[in-house]
Amino acid sequence: MDFKSIIRDIPDFPQQGIIFRDITPLLAHPQGLTKIIQGFQTKFAELNISAIDTVVGTESRGFILGAPLAMALGCSFVPVRKPKKLPSAVFRAEYELEYGTDALEIHQDAIATGERVIIIDDVIATGGTAAATAKLVEQSGAELVGYGFLIELDFLNGRQALPEVPIVSLINY
Ligand code: 5GP
Repeated sequence: MDFKSIIRDIPDFPQQGIIFRDITPLLAHPQGLTKIIQGFQTKFAELNISAIDTVVGTESRGFILGAPLAMALGCSFVPVRKPKKLPSAVFRAEYELEYGTDALEIHQDAIATGERVIIIDDVIATGGTAAATAKLVEQSGAELVGYGFLIELDFLNGRQALPEVPIVSLINY
């Protein structure tokens, strides 16, 4: 499946000068999610990344892709959420935005020490979101074994912000 021909480019969203890659037409395609999940599975297998205990998905499009991947792998799914959404005790990681900071949270008891974890999101841009999610995995005492992104925006070089673990991206711009 040619993902790029189905993903829609929205100019000047959420602000002037940004081209937003809108994945909703791909999600709406009857085979879209199946092909994305198969793509992740194939690429992780090629890198010999196996015995995954937990897929961590970052709010909110990381939920849409992470949950079916966890089902396909037969492993746990854990959400990383925006602040004040999770009801029990949390770890928190702050990250820089263009103006100010934002934060992400994970339940302290969501991942057990030593679990093998992959982090899934739809897009890596500057890498700030994915780096903060990695900090939460680290605070949980788990082992981060890989990242999976549907889209990598190469020109922003977000990889540089991430820990030294394998990164799978299904398409690049
Ligand atoms: P970063 O923290 O790497 O700069 O930005 C990545 C986060 O912003 C991801 O959670 C992703 O969902 C969102 N994001 C940034 N740019 C885009 C885009 O063009 N399309 C979509 N769908 N999400 C984006």
